[in-house]
Amino acid sequence: MKVRVRFAPSPTGGLHLGGVRTVLYNYLFARAHGGDFVLRIEDTDQTRFVPGAEQYIMDCLAWCGLEPDESPVKGGPFVPYRQSERKSMYRQYAMQLVASGNAYYAFDTPEELEKMRQEHRKDEHSAAQYDSSTRLLMRNSLTLSPSETEALIVAGTPYVIRIKVPEHTTIHISDMIRGEIAFDSSLVDDKVLLKADGMPTYHLAVVVDDYLMQISHAFRGEEWLPSAPVHVLLWDYLGWKAHMPLWAHLPLILKPDGNGKLSKRDGDRLGFPVFAMNWHDPKTNEITKGFKEMGFMPQAFVNMLAMLGWNDGTGQELFSLDELVSRFSIERVHKGGAKFDFEKAKWFNHQYIQHTDNDTLATLALPFIEANGATPTHELVTTVAGLIKDRCTLLSDFWTQGHFFFATPELVEKAAIADKWNEQKQAFFSSWTQVLAELPIWNAIDLETSFNDHVLLHGIKKGEVMLPFRIMLVGGKYGPGVFAIAEVIGKEETIGRMNTTMVAIG
Ligand code: GLU
Repeated sequence: MKVRVRFAPSPTGGLHLGGVRTVLYNYLFARAHGGDFVLRIEDTDQTRFVPGAEQYIMDCLAWCGLEPDESPVKGGPFVPYRQSERKSMYRQYAMQLVASGNAYYAFDTPEELEKMRQEHRKDEHSAAQYDSSTRLLMRNSLTLSPSETEALIVAGTPYVIRIKVPEHTTIHISDMIRGEIAFDSSLVDDKVLLKADGMPTYHLAVVVDDYLMQISHAFRGEEWLPSAPVHVLLWDYLGWKAHMPLWAHLPLILKPDGNGKLSKRDGDRLGFPVFAMNWHDPKTNEITKGFKEMGFMPQAFVNMLAMLGWNDGTGQELFSLDELVSRFSIERVHKGGAKFDFEKAKWFNHQYIQHTDNDTLATLALPFIEANGATPTHELVTTVAGLIKDRCTLLSDFWTQGHFFFATPELVEKAAIADKWNEQKQAFFSSWTQVLAELPIWNAIDLETSFNDHVLLHGIKKGEVMLPFRIMLVGGKYGPGVFAIAEVIGKEETIGRMNTTMVAIG
């Protein structure tokens, strides 16, 4: 059997990192088994449809380098890949289920449904379900005669089709991560399969499409586990049980304190991204920051996600995508939720920055530098990358740690020089600027030699003039070797910054 897996998002908003991890595990499994990775857009719930969300999902997959083999834009042997465009395919299966007695028409109005949910609730916390204990109290083709049912349909009465979940049976699911799971059918409600507008619900569409698209393995988030018994019943009732994919429900990604599922709100509250890329909500106009725009390299992001719920048992943490393909196994995915740790995510990015050549880093860092209004050449950013990459955790740090290479800095730490300024230092710096103006070769080594000579000449302590020199060039007390900075910014700029500072404090 050919391995065929799918990522089946509903285009309703930003792509949560848990969603990207689902993509990744699907992708790795497909690659490792010579299989196909399908992107199917599950947009049957028109009320939740958000314009732009589908394109955004595809952009995120492209950024992560996890491109599908078949998709709405790429096409493939099972077009279309958007469920809204497959609408006409689903009704026949709902009708087949009605004909076999495994589904029924239900004509209940929203008011009738609400009344039942309130009147038959078992406790004050949860409303009653539409299930074997309540279905016979409702207006449906199980309680109405065939002629009454027919008459309502002919009269154009709105109806849905519901699955008829059997009473008191155990539904078994075999999960590649969790093993055998048993569900008590009495706790499963009669889910709607076909809505009044003729659209299938997710439950019907996911089963029909997994079957028609010959999906061999279905990996999805743990939050879908409660729906699994409905899906298993549908596979059975439609006569397709032999073709049912093997399931794996992936563990949740938890808040940093381990208390519940990580949400966008946690990210907002704790100051880290939860979406892969910036998400602009067209309804609220709110922009939610993504890992990409925060300065993550996609390879680091992907590597970090691979480890959120999986390891290869050796303690190795850094894996290229190719290595992941050969080492990943779904059976080694943990059952328990994985706590998200933003510091660890940054550690991965720092590691990837260190292992990336300066030329590539320059290309990646340039947009973050340009966003601050500077327009350095690629060559300059490449040189700077070599000097500061060990200080950079995010690509945006190439600006915060290196802005003084690209633009004259503000003299933020002026007081640190001014407080200890004296005539001896004034004399040292003003005469050294003159020496520098005549220096025939401008490089870090010659600059340092000249500095040391001048320190001796003035009988001043090196430590007393080193920090002021750095602040003159950088604006603050940080940065790589100060002579290397002077070499890169050049003679004119170095002398200019020294003179400006002396005027400012004098
Ligand atoms: N459309 C579902 C979602 O939004 C897919 C769940 C599944 O993979 O079955 O996640």
